[in-house]
Amino acid sequence: MNNDIINNINFIQNRINKACELHGRNPKEVKLLLATKTVSADNIKIALQHGYPLIAENKIQELKEKYTDLQSTPHINHFIGNLQSNKIKELLRYDVVCLQSLDRLELAEKLHQRLLSENKTIEALIQVNTSAEESKFGVDPKLTIDLVQKIAKLETIKIKGLMTIGLFSSETEKVRACFRLLKNLQQQIIALDIPNVEMNELSMGMSGDLEVAIEEGATIVRVGTAIFGQRIYPDSYYWDENGARS
Ligand SMILES: *Cc1c(COP(=O)(O)O)cnc(C)c1O
Repeated sequence: MNNDIINNINFIQNRINKACELHGRNPKEVKLLLATKTVSADNIKIALQHGYPLIAENKIQELKEKYTDLQSTPHINHFIGNLQSNKIKELLRYDVVCLQSLDRLELAEKLHQRLLSENKTIEALIQVNTSAEESKFGVDPKLTIDLVQKIAKLETIKIKGLMTIGLFSSETEKVRACFRLLKNLQQQIIALDIPNVEMNELSMGMSGDLEVAIEEGATIVRVGTAIFGQRIYPDSYYWDENGARS
């Protein structure tokens, strides 16, 4: 198992390096984020000790369960799942540095109130639904700029960029269109020069489509199964409205 994880990480890093080389990008600009849902703390530690400190959970429950075990191994926690407002307190308790899945004003306002009362700040990416699939989370692309402008006024939330889950399709050009849309929104937002908003990060691309994402400008690729193996839960358990409520 140890070797599998390490070999898989090396393999993914090679894919990242090759994609960067092919598209004139510096591999140092592309961070590999480990999507650790359903992965045990012991297996996560193998990856952390191999030099990959950026990890993310989808559910607060899992963040909580692994928290103590991971404390002795330096790492950076992002959160990539749909967050219910009643879980904000816990998100902050477990040292999440960046919420990559911020997609609505109501959640941002509650988060801001809590951050104020704890005298803290948090980084955030705005999650955009670039595939127009109803089941997926994320703000409608057409409403993204407005949302960024509103969240920018909440000074405890430091917007660092955008995140998306691309369309699951074997048709590369359809997947590419999702990533291009995110890049395009990033450019439009940069042009607006909004106070309290940075737009350096584009979190897009996963096990199956990271090369296209890198070609289109990804700075963070999020990989789970290609490193840790297949999960027992279907992805709908983590991504769909229905799955999230069950
Ligand atoms: C699980 C997950 C990933 C990684 O997906 P894999 O197919 O396991 O590589 C990326 N992003 C999000 C939001 C996820 O939930």
